[in-house]
Amino acid sequence: MLPRFEIVSQDFTVANYLELLDLAKKRFRFVQYADSQDSENIAIWRHDIDISPHRALALAKLENEKGVDATYFVQLTSRFYNAMEEDVIRVLRHLSKVAHIGLHFDPNCYKIETIEDFCENLSFEINVLQKLIAVPVDAFSLHNPTLVQGIALNDLAYCGLINASAPHFREAFVYCSDSNGYWRYRTLQNVLMDEATSRVHALTHPCWWQEEIMPPRKRVARCVEGRAQASLNYYDNLLAANGRKNENS
Ligand SMILES: [Zn+2]
Repeated sequence: MLPRFEIVSQDFTVANYLELLDLAKKRFRFVQYADSQDSENIAIWRHDIDISPHRALALAKLENEKGVDATYFVQLTSRFYNAMEEDVIRVLRHLSKVAHIGLHFDPNCYKIETIEDFCENLSFEINVLQKLIAVPVDAFSLHNPTLVQGIALNDLAYCGLINASAPHFREAFVYCSDSNGYWRYRTLQNVLMDEATSRVHALTHPCWWQEEIMPPRKRVARCVEGRAQASLNYYDNLLAANGRKNENS
């Protein structure tokens, strides 16, 4: 793990993100999981939306302007947002117009003892997500896969859905992830600039990319506080619109 001062100083700004996109575009062709067999100089650009659909849409718009073909994996069981909330559905539908959508699936939310159990619950969430955003979804990634116990989920596909968390997509690619808000091993810039890199699988989480340099926990706090404020605003506006008292002491 990097010393703390280096974590803080890592540049997770939107400005730096745009530079990383330009760097990737110079050398790599962006592909979807289903089209990633046997090619060289390709990049899979993945985002797991664990915390903020709003940050996801902000990044997706920037990527779309640059012609970057990315996939955003939506979580239905997040502790940080509700994918079934009206405003969030609107954000996700917008997102589906500028990027591909996958499902970020947390098997730990279900009682899963067999592959059949896994497929049944995975299909359930895929159906819900497709219903919410009205686009087909053909891939999933796993949330906290290290916590899945008892069954291995290493196959490339389950019940006709591509498994973006399959070991293949880490082993046949140079895999680079910003999990926890910092580059634990190599930075994405380092990977993209390395001439030995011919296939990249970049996993970023939209919450980590913000306008200013901040330590990871502050970036999470900003997303959490933004959502809390939006919920309070909704409540206040609802009461005001209906002429109700809104006492606060
Ligand atoms: Zn996750």
